[in-house]
Amino acid sequence: MKNPFETDEHKAFRETIRSFVEKEITPFAHEWDEAGAVPWELHEKLGALGFFGFGIDEEYGGLGFDDPFMRAIASEEIAKCGFGGVGAAVGGRGISLDPIQKLAAPEIRDRVLKDIVLGKKGSSLGITEPGGGSDVASLKTTAKRDGNHFVINGSKTFITGGMESDYFVIGARTGGPGLTGISLFFVEADTPGFSRTPLSKKMGWWASNQATLYFDDVRVPATNLMGQEDYGFIAIMHNFNNERLGLIAVALGMMKAAYEDSIAWAKERETFGKPLIKHQVIRHKIADMSARIDAVESYMNMICWQMSQGETPVAELSKAKFFATKSLEFVASEAMQILGGAGYLRGNRVECIYREVKVIAIGGGSEEIMRDLAVRQMGL
Ligand SMILES: Cc1cc2nc3c(=O)[nH]c(=O)nc-3n(C[C@H](O)[C@H](O)[C@H](O)COP(=O)(O)OP(=O)(O)OC[C@H]3O[C@@H](n4cnc5c(N)ncnc54)[C@H](O)[C@@H]3O)c2cc1C
Repeated sequence: MKNPFETDEHKAFRETIRSFVEKEITPFAHEWDEAGAVPWELHEKLGALGFFGFGIDEEYGGLGFDDPFMRAIASEEIAKCGFGGVGAAVGGRGISLDPIQKLAAPEIRDRVLKDIVLGKKGSSLGITEPGGGSDVASLKTTAKRDGNHFVINGSKTFITGGMESDYFVIGARTGGPGLTGISLFFVEADTPGFSRTPLSKKMGWWASNQATLYFDDVRVPATNLMGQEDYGFIAIMHNFNNERLGLIAVALGMMKAAYEDSIAWAKERETFGKPLIKHQVIRHKIADMSARIDAVESYMNMICWQMSQGETPVAELSKAKFFATKSLEFVASEAMQILGGAGYLRGNRVECIYREVKVIAIGGGSEEIMRDLAVRQMGL
C-alpha cells in the first residue's frame, strides 16, 4: 500500500535497513535460530546504524529525534528475515531504553545508556512474573526501603534478553496492593542476590533468550528507584505504546514475508497441469492475504501519523495490535497451506512465521487484554 505520509527520509531509512537485513541478517537467520543466539557483533552493527536510537538524545548515542514511521520501518524490515528471534534478540533492549533515559538517576543514565543504545551492552525490561503478566497491577515482587537502599525480593519470567543483559528495569511493589504501589528500579546483573536461568524448548524466537530472574534480598541504592515511588504503573503503561507499535510492524513484516514466499512457490509449483497460481482457489487465498496486509499497513500508518502529531492513540494501538495478530494468524496459515508439505520443513520463513504468530499475539499485551483496553479507552 502507498503511504501518503512517506517522506524521502523514510524511504532512505527503509532502504538502509532493508539492505542491511538482506545482506547481514537474512542469509544467517536460520542458522542463528537453530544455534539459539545471534552474534553480539549484530547488536553493535545495528547500534551503529541508529536502530536503537529513536527518542534518545544524541549525547547517549541516540538519533536525537523520534519518528514513529521510522520505528515501524525498522521493526517491519527486520521481521522480514522471517526468524523473529533475531529481532527479539537485538530489539529486546528497546522497551527498557525510554525508562532509562527519562526516569533513571543522571549518574546511572550517563554511565549506561550510550553503551546500550550503541549495542555494546544489553538491557531488559522485567514486568512479567511467574504468577502472571497481563494483570500488571497485581505484581508481587517487592522492594522494601532500608535506609538509603531498597531490598528487592521476588522473581520475573519470560524476560527477553535476560540471560545476556547487563542491566534491568524491574517493576516491584513498594506500596500497598493495586496499581498505585508499583515502582520501577534499575538493577545491574552483578548485584549480589540476583540470579537467572534460561527458558528453553520454546515454540519460537529461538535466536533470542528469555530468562527467569530471581531477586533474593537484592540491595540497590535508593537512587536506583526510577521515577516517583509508587507511581511506576503509569510509566509501564506509557512504555507499552511504542512496544505495541513495534509489534504491529513486526506482524506486518512477517505477513509480507509469508505472502511473498507463498506467491513465489505458487508460481513455481505445478499441480493438475498448471502452476498453483493459476488455480482459482489459490488466487482467492492470495487476494484474502493481500487485503489483510493492506488493511494492517494502512491502519498502522494512520496511527504513526497520529503519533507523529504528538497524540497517543491508545485505543487505536490496542485495536491495531489484535487486528494485526489476527491478520498474521490468517496470512501465516494460508501461506503455509499454499506451500503444502514443503512449508512443513524447518528452515523456511513460512514455517518459522507460522510458529511465531502466538508470541506476537500474547506478548506486549495479549489479544484479550488489547480488546479490553480498547473498549475502556473508547469510554465504554
Ligand atoms: C517469548 C516471550 C517474550 C517475552 N518477553 C517479555 C519481556 O521482555 N518482559 C516482560 O516483562 N514480559 C515478557 N513476556 C511476557 C508477556 O508480556 C506475557 O506473556 C503477557 O503479558 C501475558 O501474560 P501471561 O503469559 O502471564 O498470561 P496471563 O496473564 O496468565 O493470561 C493467560 C491468558 O488469559 C488471558 N487473560 C488474562 N486476563 C484476562 C481477562 N481479564 N479476560 C480474558 N482473558 C484474559 C490472556 O490474554 C492470556 O491469553 C514475554 C512473553 C513471551 C512468550
